[in-house]
Amino acid sequence: MDLDDQEASSNIEDRRGMSIGGIGGGLGLGTIAIGVIAYFLGFDPGTVMNLAQQVQQSTPQLQTSQAPHGAPSDPLGKFSAKVLGSTEVVWGDIFRQSNTSYRAPTLVLYERAVRSSCGLGQSAMGPFYCPNDEKLYLDLSFFRDLQTRFRAPGDFAQAYVIAHEVGHHVQKLTGTFRKMEAARGRASETETNRLSVRMELQADCYAGVWGHYAGTMNQVQPGEVEEALRAATAIGDDRLQQETQGRVVPESFTHGTSAQRVRWFTRGLRSGRPSDCNTFSAASL
Ligand SMILES: [Zn+2]
Repeated sequence: MDLDDQEASSNIEDRRGMSIGGIGGGLGLGTIAIGVIAYFLGFDPGTVMNLAQQVQQSTPQLQTSQAPHGAPSDPLGKFSAKVLGSTEVVWGDIFRQSNTSYRAPTLVLYERAVRSSCGLGQSAMGPFYCPNDEKLYLDLSFFRDLQTRFRAPGDFAQAYVIAHEVGHHVQKLTGTFRKMEAARGRASETETNRLSVRMELQADCYAGVWGHYAGTMNQVQPGEVEEALRAATAIGDDRLQQETQGRVVPESFTHGTSAQRVRWFTRGLRSGRPSDCNTFSAASL
């Protein structure tokens, strides 16, 4: 990517190197990680809440609020701040076109474990978005996993991850999150998973919409699109389940298959129109 001309967002909270009392020492984190691996790259406040309850007693104090704000100076931190800045430009324009204003989310950089208004988050869950505090939580070590474990190298693959979480924020602003939460309360588990897949694929499509305009701003070169497609392929539910459980259980999908993720990302990328991202009304995904 070429982000030389892109201003870094200042909506960054850098909590790296900060411990949250009692955890971060490794106790129990490994075992919890196995249970949540499937939520990878995902929205699942419910899971986060459960985690929080498990460790609540041992973590009396909240994470310090004195985290440095503004764009970090290290390369990966700075890169993330620029990608976030680019999403602010793109979504700011899109919202303005429909006469609304875009309220930008905050990106929290952390290591290992982090407090959010949705409960405790940790690296093994992958990046996540908390609608309660409108913050994206990212442990930059995930970018290394993307390259090594998921064999999806490249900075556009990394940017896609941030853009996907920003997509969830757009869902918060447009009311999709609220509707989803309401539906979750009265739905069966299978139905909830089905809704979750549509939610995730829409976030992928929104990530594509951002990618479309990043392309028109010459921030992305055509050849780099492959990077994001590789990432989308690597984190499909079918692929992940095959790798972690050795079998695929479609009813338990929460994010969509690799092919679906690629399809919806590509759809947003091609058209640049959020209205093309209505996964909830799509007859087939
Ligand atoms: Zn997601």
